[in-house]
Amino acid sequence: MTADVTTDVLVVGSGAAGMYAALAAARNNADTILVDKSLIGRGGATIMAQMTVAAAVSEQEPDHWTHHLRDTLDSGRGLCNEELAAILCEEAPIRIRELDDWKIGWAREDNHMKQVMAPGHGRERCVYVDFLNTGPAVARTLRTQVGRTGNLRRASELLITNIVVNDDQVMGAVGLSMATGTPVTIQAKAVVLAAGGLTRLYRRNSASVNMGGDSYALALRAGAELIDMEFVQFFPIGHLAPRLVGMDPIMWDPFRYKLGGRLLNSEGDEFVHNYGHLETSDKYTAPRDVASFAILQEVAAGRGSPAGGAYLSFEHIPETTLRAAFGPVIDRLAANDIDLTRRGIEVSPIAHYHMGGVRVNSNMETSVPGLFAAGEAVGGANGANRLSGNALSEAFVFGERAGRFAAAAIEKRVNLWSHDATRLAVDEITAGLHVNSRQSGPGLAGMLVTLQELMWRDVGLLRTANNLTSARTLVRDMRREIGNHPGASDHRFAISMQDWFDMRNSLITAEAIIASAQTRTESRGAHQRDDFPLTDPEQTYNLITCLNGEDLSVTKAPLVSKSFDLIPLEAAE
Ligand SMILES: Cc1cc2nc3c(=O)[nH]c(=O)nc-3n(C[C@H](O)[C@H](O)[C@H](O)COP(=O)(O)OP(=O)(O)OC[C@H]3O[C@@H](n4cnc5c(N)ncnc54)[C@H](O)[C@@H]3O)c2cc1C
Repeated sequence: MTADVTTDVLVVGSGAAGMYAALAAARNNADTILVDKSLIGRGGATIMAQMTVAAAVSEQEPDHWTHHLRDTLDSGRGLCNEELAAILCEEAPIRIRELDDWKIGWAREDNHMKQVMAPGHGRERCVYVDFLNTGPAVARTLRTQVGRTGNLRRASELLITNIVVNDDQVMGAVGLSMATGTPVTIQAKAVVLAAGGLTRLYRRNSASVNMGGDSYALALRAGAELIDMEFVQFFPIGHLAPRLVGMDPIMWDPFRYKLGGRLLNSEGDEFVHNYGHLETSDKYTAPRDVASFAILQEVAAGRGSPAGGAYLSFEHIPETTLRAAFGPVIDRLAANDIDLTRRGIEVSPIAHYHMGGVRVNSNMETSVPGLFAAGEAVGGANGANRLSGNALSEAFVFGERAGRFAAAAIEKRVNLWSHDATRLAVDEITAGLHVNSRQSGPGLAGMLVTLQELMWRDVGLLRTANNLTSARTLVRDMRREIGNHPGASDHRFAISMQDWFDMRNSLITAEAIIASAQTRTESRGAHQRDDFPLTDPEQTYNLITCLNGEDLSVTKAPLVSKSFDLIPLEAAE
């Protein structure tokens, strides 16, 4: 029996990484299909990004990718996969210029790309699109290129439920058509997994609904390995109060890049410099792990703001300067009754990005031949803490590479299609069409709230062995409770089936974070343990998570290192 659809390369997820992967695969002559459970190029984190992209393009001041690499490694607290980090930094300028050629509209000044300084970067390195339009501009530009490319088909509203492996090699995938609730089988010689991150697992997050950890769960169930799952990045200055409608909770970062701003405790004092980082008034330099920890400690010491965070103040900045920097955004704030010249706003950490993820080699291939990964799905390049702007660079660079190497790999692949190998995955979906189950409907919505609450409380900014153990027990109970297939889908668009597949992925991903966090008995970067407050140099290794049957195992692996010379900046221009 043949598959419903046949292609050379299947790309799962159409954020920046997926769209770049699909473009690269197609322009390397592979017949390519790009699928998304949302609309193509309109779901996930990419379109939500408002800030900056890091790349040593040397337009604002002399720079070189080795300096970007130095900053990335410093920020990663000793755990970066240096090979991947070097690729990210070396190839980011190529992708930024390519997007410029495609008329993305990077902000310009005196005929050069404007670059701002972001925390942890030693130079003015981050490009952006005004005003807070970086992500929408990236998504629009890549969508246009995707639309113009031959041998590249697209399918929206197709939720990939399983990557199918036969004889230990990828042979395609099975998806749920969200319009009809029926299974779709896809035969592919290579699959690129670019289904984004996991921050929706946390109560306070900057995520959209489709960021529940599908990448990691799909990879695990296909037999691939995950790396350093404990490192969830908390963005320190997520909006907390007053109420803000229709604007992004992490929008205060660009304000700080351009205008500085002061982070204050309830006593009106700046405090980040008390936590090991010399941040001076009006200069925004503290990396995310340090700033998040500092806010947490101020609140614990009783010096938090009324809503439980810190104050961010721009009161010292004249309105004309605010308007020159943010134009129409100032009016949108006014509609929310926020006047930055009169009052500080309250901010606190919010789950924002995942440094861990699918383990790949420098070709972006996983341990399963034919299965590639790209974007936020991939772990390792950013170690224990990511620099601002590196996530979009990573999505472009790793996406392009994954598509290119997937296209190159199809030459060597034999046709492994076997209808039998898809049977379990297809049956999961058809079972949902025929059975009645108490798991359909509100049961899963309630379970998601419970999961988000427990991840926030027990697996969030400050962790302990006891909290991690009880969280893992609860997550395992929930994994058992949801069973082996979705409940009845009695609505159009198979809503309860989607919820079930989302929940299955979220639960296994949550357990992978917890299992890794239990194993790392130290504090490092984004992983802070109340019971092990110090960094332990003996634990300078990566943690690898695998799925054996229904159980997760975590093992240690040596770091991937790479030597390089810092190129002097006089020679860099
Ligand atoms: C609010 C916000 C602001 C940010 N700002 C910045 C910034 O300024 N600079 C920066 O560098 N980074 C920023 N980041 C991080 C950065 O945007 C992301 O890391 C990056 O866009 C991830 O791209 P991606 O292509 O890997 O994933 P995404 O853009 O998240 O795309 C993943 C896609 O996969 C689809 N998908 C998921 N599961 C499935 C499935 N089972 N089947 C089919 N499709 C599936 C989703 O629908 C989605 O469209 C921000 C993130 C957020 C949330």
